[in-house]
Amino acid sequence: MSVAYDSLFIGGEWVASGGTTQITVVSASTEEVLGQIPEATAADVDKAVAAARGACGDPAGWSRWEPARRAEALERLADALDKRGEDIAHRVSSQNGMPIAVSRQLEAVFPATLLRYYAGMVRDRESEESRPGLFGGTTLVRRTPVGVVGAIVPWNFPQTLAAFKYAPALAAGCTVVIKPSPETVLDSYLLAEAVQEAALPPGVVNIVTGGRDVGAHLVSHPGVDKVAFTGSTGAGRQIAETCGRMLRPVTLELGGKSAAIILDDADLDSVNTAQNLFGATLLNNGQTCYLSTRILVPRTRYAQVVDVFTGFVEGLTVGDALDPDTQIGPMASARHRQRVESFIAEGRAEGARVTAGGGRPSQLDRGWFVEPTVFADVDNSFTVAREEIFGPVLSLIPYTDVDEAVQIANDSDYGLGGTVWSSDPERAVEVARRVQTGTIGINQYLPDPTAPFGGVKASGLGRELGPEGLAAYENQKSIYLSAPASGN
Ligand code: NAD
Repeated sequence: MSVAYDSLFIGGEWVASGGTTQITVVSASTEEVLGQIPEATAADVDKAVAAARGACGDPAGWSRWEPARRAEALERLADALDKRGEDIAHRVSSQNGMPIAVSRQLEAVFPATLLRYYAGMVRDRESEESRPGLFGGTTLVRRTPVGVVGAIVPWNFPQTLAAFKYAPALAAGCTVVIKPSPETVLDSYLLAEAVQEAALPPGVVNIVTGGRDVGAHLVSHPGVDKVAFTGSTGAGRQIAETCGRMLRPVTLELGGKSAAIILDDADLDSVNTAQNLFGATLLNNGQTCYLSTRILVPRTRYAQVVDVFTGFVEGLTVGDALDPDTQIGPMASARHRQRVESFIAEGRAEGARVTAGGGRPSQLDRGWFVEPTVFADVDNSFTVAREEIFGPVLSLIPYTDVDEAVQIANDSDYGLGGTVWSSDPERAVEVARRVQTGTIGINQYLPDPTAPFGGVKASGLGRELGPEGLAAYENQKSIYLSAPASGN
């Protein structure tokens, strides 16, 4: 069933766009039209930023609310999102091909979890702290919200990655203008409806629709105080340039090409390991930034591990994203499938050996599917080992000893995720400490809301989640108090 919206959510109201261009969203599994919405113009973005600024700066505005009152509002928003959980999961999966089992577990749940987490963090927190000075006297350290946040979100986890930004931003007292990706803009209307139901003050959350130009206008807008971006490294560099020129704080969560280091004692046979391997290497059809898509394998076990991965990938159920049994759905767009397929062709041309997949599933005659694919005999210098493919394509790279495994893992432009697999967790942690990355998992990978998430090198700047993710939306101000005059 196709949905149509004729307005944008700005200043707590549904307002007509100033333009006439429409965005059409298409199902990744069936290629059918899912809905149409208006594309925001530059003037619409200006209106949204003005609404956010008004809501933040007003003497009775959001930034001045007692944290406990803000926390209550965030909890109401979490409740309103919970009510829409199934609709959100359905809409996200229809648009970007995420298997519905994954969107039910993550997209339908993570945003409300984060809102409650940050509500709990700020509820009783003082905004000022008194520190004794080293030269006598004391300093009042005061936390203030940075102000208006421009939040730019990709299509792969549209609800969760928006919440990575708006949940801490709102908790800190900031107001937000969110720009979703055009491929997954329809689910942002469910967020807008939840914001209305939760009775957040007008202008605290605004949503502008559109692609790169609308995003670029938001990033360089004089009324924005901070930019939070998740997306490709290329777009991140452009955004960083603009923010650098404007000296505007920016958080960048970018691409990845992480490594799974399989140690020689790893047990790859249990059902639990298979599930964890799937989550760490292929979640969301390979369209997840932190996936360990370079699999580093000891030479002594290479043939065996190639067989394990080949069997595991060949056993995956590929199909319509809305089928609860589907493990691998389609790529999010025709253009993206083309990109993934060109990487598969490049891997073959470079001499990598396809042991599973490599083509399109023959039983699916519509939708942007590619078979999950395993490449063996990959050298870390190959394009398939260097570039982020963002599809279900794994590269198995042999290593001789642990030092070489760490060296290969670190020989990447990126540093976002990673995993170490061993029957000895302490040994695995020792190896994990040596990998240059922002996050890494032992025998599994699952980001936790309480811990900072983000990358090093070309994977980005700054951190989301945890207390660090809240601090990213706050300024600190030091008020030096003179020492009391000594009595005589
Ligand atoms: P993308 O960079 O093309 O687009 C992301 C968002 O930015 C979209 O909303 C897009 O409209 C907007 N945009 C693009 N260029 C812009 C510009 N110059 N100025 C302002 N806005 C701009 O990325 P995508 O294809 O939507 O998403 C896939 C990428 O996102 C992958 O590289 C993936 O690794 C990355 N990603 C990173 C993380 C992370 O946390 N590190 C998480 C998910 C996805």
